Amino acid sequence: MLAFAGGDRLGGSGAGAGSGVADAETLLEDYGTYVNPGLARLFRFMGLTGVEWEGEGALVRDAAGNTYIDCGSGYAVLNLGHRHPRVVAAVREQLDRLPVSTRVLVNAPQVELAELLARVTPGRLRCSFLCHSGTEAVEAALKLARLRTGRTRVVAAAGGFHGKTMGSLAATGNPHYRRGLEPLLGGVDHVPYGDLEAMAAALTPDTAAVILEPIQGEAGVVVPPPGYLKGVERLCRERGVLLVLDEVQTGMGRTGRLFACQHEEVEPDLLTLAKALGGGVLPVGACVGTPEIFSLFDEEPLLHTVTMGGNPLACAAARAAIQVCLEEDLPGQAARKGERALTVLGELRRRHPEVLTDVRGRGLLIGLEAATPGVGGALLAELIERRVLLVPSLNNFAILRFAPPLVIPDDLLEEALARVEAAVARVAEVARDL
Ligand code: PLP
Repeated sequence: MLAFAGGDRLGGSGAGAGSGVADAETLLEDYGTYVNPGLARLFRFMGLTGVEWEGEGALVRDAAGNTYIDCGSGYAVLNLGHRHPRVVAAVREQLDRLPVSTRVLVNAPQVELAELLARVTPGRLRCSFLCHSGTEAVEAALKLARLRTGRTRVVAAAGGFHGKTMGSLAATGNPHYRRGLEPLLGGVDHVPYGDLEAMAAALTPDTAAVILEPIQGEAGVVVPPPGYLKGVERLCRERGVLLVLDEVQTGMGRTGRLFACQHEEVEPDLLTLAKALGGGVLPVGACVGTPEIFSLFDEEPLLHTVTMGGNPLACAAARAAIQVCLEEDLPGQAARKGERALTVLGELRRRHPEVLTDVRGRGLLIGLEAATPGVGGALLAELIERRVLLVPSLNNFAILRFAPPLVIPDDLLEEALARVEAAVARVAEVARDL
């Protein structure tokens, strides 16, 4: 069973070469038996047989001592990299004092985080419902929107991703994940993303909210046409519909601004956050809303609760994460490094159109669209071989995401790009020989 305890593999000093490989086999088998058989098979198929052991910044080492450049950031969780020292220190300090709230006395880290969120989020957003995940943040937004407006319908976008619990899944625009589960939350219409006319036509007097990602992540990094979000904001204001922006993936500097809606100065009524909000150290989610929406809690303070939401450890992590984002100018770093990466990868696409049919994105959220899902899989395998980790898109397996930690040093970014280049060239060579 799990045989990786012990400090001999830490710190890069002869990190566990040898025995780790056999142990990885056992662990993967047990993963298939006790966790997820299909995913275990997929891991094997992709050549993902390493057991992650330790991480620092944009680097991860497996139990056998292999070092990878992490360019997937655990699906946009690791904007600050692995184990950012400021976040780790904040969590440690809280851990040694009061990791869990009484839920009876006022909890300072929770209030401090909510106050900071009110300061850094756009427009009139002020109050936060704190939770642990993106899907929980979306569930909260859907409930609050219905209650505030007294209306029931929601408009979401085809291809959008908002989570997989029963409410958020109804908004997720991929029928594949809904199969066998319907009826879900009723009254959700899906419209083509980026099409303002379709949005205008979908809004009815019974529409409570529009929920959108400012850039669709799991759909494969889909950037809407300029003016789209602003147009949706205008339509919502005209029709008394609440605008929910889901920045679970695009928030915390990933696209070159602290929040992606700030590129167009769009001000949502509700903003959902998670993933990188926990600084890559703890799970934290938030649904941030205007004072009017949160006045619902005036009448019913226990309207929406989750026992461990806003726990002191998570809040300490999130507060430190936001401070790091601002002080280290992570949005600026994402913008600069993203431009460089887009240039290099765009050039690569021009050289190898048989492998890459498109490269697009904003900041360090970049989609590499492969010619087919099979080519995408082959590319992922070649990248793993070269010790670079990218992640596929949940709603489209042909699209890999190049989304390294925003703190990735310039030389490591260049190294990662060179390895992507080599992997693409190899896939092109194999495809030519077939
Ligand atoms: N919203 C968006 C935009 C996401 O990308 C995701 C996850 O990928 C979610 C919501 C769901 O988040 P979680 O997996 O934390 O529930």
